[in-house]
Amino acid sequence: MGLAEIKDRVETEAKRVGRAPESVTLIAVSKVQPNERVEAVLEEGQRVFGENKVQEAAGKWPAFKDRFDGVELHLIGPLQTNKARQAMELFDVIHTVDRPKLAKTIARLAEELGHCPRLFIQVNTGEEPQKAGVLPAEADAFIQECRDLGLSIEGLMCIPPAEEEPSLHFALLKKIADRNQIAGLSMGMSGDFETAIAQGATHVRVGSAIFGERDYS
Ligand SMILES: *Cc1c(COP(=O)(O)O)cnc(C)c1O
Repeated sequence: MGLAEIKDRVETEAKRVGRAPESVTLIAVSKVQPNERVEAVLEEGQRVFGENKVQEAAGKWPAFKDRFDGVELHLIGPLQTNKARQAMELFDVIHTVDRPKLAKTIARLAEELGHCPRLFIQVNTGEEPQKAGVLPAEADAFIQECRDLGLSIEGLMCIPPAEEEPSLHFALLKKIADRNQIAGLSMGMSGDFETAIAQGATHVRVGSAIFGERDYS
């Protein structure tokens, strides 16, 4: 695999289902990967990256941003309110807005900082207790609450349960997005990004299929 093959597969699947390839943004998920691998993918021209921890991203991305123009960073992991300021200074997009306290903090900081990252709301489509995200039944009310706070919601994001068929989760996310007039859909990872594209994903988050397996040891 690798970047070129994954870009090719994204484009092929988009065309196959009658979508413009540019309507799908490939987020290269660089968490845990050694800097040499990330640098190689930057050298190949990739500019959109995803990280799931604020601290880890803060340790490596400022230096990469100095060396490579046009980097766009997406936070795809849970965000604690006490890290919101740092996240808003570092990330261009946050995919994991999932509770009122965080939404209120982001709204307050946006005013103070004079800018706000693009925002996605994470939905816990599998209703898994260990997973972040607003429950599907509470999504409409939470979206409204965010809008009432003045936040512009670009999309919804989900991580389907590992053992389940992802299609049902992708379909549910799209349904919630459609009825709330939300255009962005962050869904699909290494194992299922083509399925997600067929179901309307605007952002796919692909890590190991681009960089190789993550080594947590
Ligand atoms: C790690 C991660 C990914 C990428 O997973 P791969 O299976 O390596 O593609 C995507 N989304 C989120 C939220 C992640 O934490």
